[in-house]
Amino acid sequence: MTPDLDAIVTDIIAAMAQEDDRGTVASYIPELAKVDPAQFGIAIATADGRLISGGDADIGFSIQSVSKVFALTLALGKVGDQLWDRVGREPSGNAFNSITQLEHEQGIPRNPFINAGAIVVTDINLGGHQPRVAIGEMLRFIRYLAGEDTIAINEAVAASETATGFRNMALANYMRAFNNVRHPVELVLGSYFHQCAIEMSCRQLALAGRYLMLDGGHPGGGRVVSPRRARRINALMLTCGHYDASGDFAFRVGIPGKSGVGGGILAIVPGRASIAVWSPGLNTSGNSQLGTLALEELARRTGWSVFSPPEEGD
Ligand code: GLN
Repeated sequence: MTPDLDAIVTDIIAAMAQEDDRGTVASYIPELAKVDPAQFGIAIATADGRLISGGDADIGFSIQSVSKVFALTLALGKVGDQLWDRVGREPSGNAFNSITQLEHEQGIPRNPFINAGAIVVTDINLGGHQPRVAIGEMLRFIRYLAGEDTIAINEAVAASETATGFRNMALANYMRAFNNVRHPVELVLGSYFHQCAIEMSCRQLALAGRYLMLDGGHPGGGRVVSPRRARRINALMLTCGHYDASGDFAFRVGIPGKSGVGGGILAIVPGRASIAVWSPGLNTSGNSQLGTLALEELARRTGWSVFSPPEEGD
């Protein structure tokens, strides 16, 4: 049965407006602390080409770690499976910015979706160029995925994190000691902070994620990645996309998802939908409190899950 997405989105927006526990807006990046926690947006791009959205779905927010999905896709395009010599593929069970694990693992981060892993991925994407070249490539890639030319970087957010990102500097320097960061740390982090500061609305983010619901195909024709690569990226989102809360997200929501400390989550229902939710308040693991709740409700109402048996006609 086809779910009535318009009705479900309307109900979810009403339910989220009633929620008192909205989490806490990230404050370790000072610029993000200014964002109003009362906001909530949702957008669903379906495989049959519809876009259902509601709430604050057109307001731009800092995608932060959701950018790690697009950065990984680009890096795999550059170096293929060699990437896995430098980054693992296991859930970390630790916070997104954990330092201790790196020492045990000799500078090889657990997965590409924790900060350390994404910094190595950024190092790969730099490929001997200046940060502005790598950032330009990333922006063009995301604009092409979303089909939206207006997507841009919020320079104030990038500057704010550059001024305060001491933990990420520690992670990058530590990995440079193991030669798992190959470019100068300032260049890698310059690129990393700017990609985190890309601003998108839920509508744009849902559109950008469509290749992952379409088994790697671009909705406008052609291919972004092979089916195998799209499935692997989805697998990593399911197992590692919410840091030490990835197991809980899989249990509650049951579809691949990637969160960011800006309060956004990109979630993929293979073959059916690319979903973006946004609400700036975070839970203790740094994932959007209402975003997670909304996805849980959406999955419950639609029956969407990567663990459900195929429907007739599939
Ligand atoms: N830019 C943020 C950081 O490096 C991204 C973290 C996140 O979204 N979880 O701390």
